[in-house]
Amino acid sequence: MGEERLVWNYNIEAGLGKQLPPKILFWDETMRDGEQTPGVYFSPEEKLRIATVLSEMGVDIMDVGIPVVSKEEYRGVKLVANAGLDASILAACRAVRRDVEACIECDADEVSIFIACSDLHLKYKLNMTREQVLEAAVRECEYAKAHGVGVTFVTEDTFRADFDYVVTLYNAAIDAGATRVVLSDTVGYTSPTMMRWFIERVKKRFKPAQLSVHCHNDFGLAVANSLAALEVGVEVPHTCVNGLGERSGNASFEELVMALEVLYGYKTGIDVSRIAEVSKLVEQLSGIPIAVNKAVVGYNSFSHESGIHADGVIKMTSTYEPMQPERVGRERRFIFGKHTGSAAVEDRLTRHRVHATPDQVRQIVAMIKDLAESRSKDEQEAFIHMYREREEKRRGVSDAEFWDIVRRAGLTPPPELR
Ligand code: MN
Repeated sequence: MGEERLVWNYNIEAGLGKQLPPKILFWDETMRDGEQTPGVYFSPEEKLRIATVLSEMGVDIMDVGIPVVSKEEYRGVKLVANAGLDASILAACRAVRRDVEACIECDADEVSIFIACSDLHLKYKLNMTREQVLEAAVRECEYAKAHGVGVTFVTEDTFRADFDYVVTLYNAAIDAGATRVVLSDTVGYTSPTMMRWFIERVKKRFKPAQLSVHCHNDFGLAVANSLAALEVGVEVPHTCVNGLGERSGNASFEELVMALEVLYGYKTGIDVSRIAEVSKLVEQLSGIPIAVNKAVVGYNSFSHESGIHADGVIKMTSTYEPMQPERVGRERRFIFGKHTGSAAVEDRLTRHRVHATPDQVRQIVAMIKDLAESRSKDEQEAFIHMYREREEKRRGVSDAEFWDIVRRAGLTPPPELR
């Protein structure tokens, strides 16, 4: 006798989970692209804290920084690379000799050599020809391989580049020693359908190498695009905790992992019970507050106010929760406000051994609604104002500090700033 079936998961019935690679390797970008979020800085010791938790959770590969960025960055990469973590520690570099050398000196297990490949980037950013880019890529992949580190080849803006050139460039890098290749949707220009189409073409024309994607969230599609890539055989998605990263960020680690676990029924091997912990750690160290409506880790992800929803959740949590908060290390909250109904009030009273008659419950509900609807908005307006001001101020170096540094370098700021 089978259990009564109450939920149909058509994601699984549609066979999506079956097309995923047998083992997905999670490549964390929190400490590299995530740190490139404007105004964010992680000290070497902070990187080690984040890396330790992620490694314990089962993340396979971590890009912990670009050693040539600064002395502290160099120290950070070296510190994490020598910490004996289970994850493979990777350092990133341009296809420039001293950059590659710095990664090797830091004792990274792997290097990820990146260069732009769209004609737009070649013409306006690098001022290099396609031939020069290919030559630099081959030269540095060969150099890194000769020094005994794992070689990943990455191009920026892959999805807006001429496809024939993409094929030529990657095959040359694979011949030169790259065993893993990353295709980057640097400005979030991809849709799930296009991603599948693109990867199918890549699989037909690239020489054998492990495939990886780096998806940005400019149109809110980073996780969807990463899933689309996984569905057609890509093994290594890039993610950032809390979806940090340049502009609107990268594919969110917690969203991608939980979508795979819940929607696809896929065992990621990630210890999801520590998702809340790592999310809070990164929120604290990055100074970037998690949006209240952020999936999985936002304050509202497991909060219920409306009477209908609260009533459903009290009777059976799965009615309005696609996953249980406890699974990701969180707790459910009932919010009392304008939309509150009697079930949530009764539930709260009962939990605290307070017995109320139905009339008394109705009275309490009415009073809660009155209070919520009569509250002044002054406080919330002040908060939003303060938050915006703080966002302007706290990021990076202030205008005053910038011009002070310019002055200390012996230059005279323009009259309007004196
Ligand atoms: Mn990026």
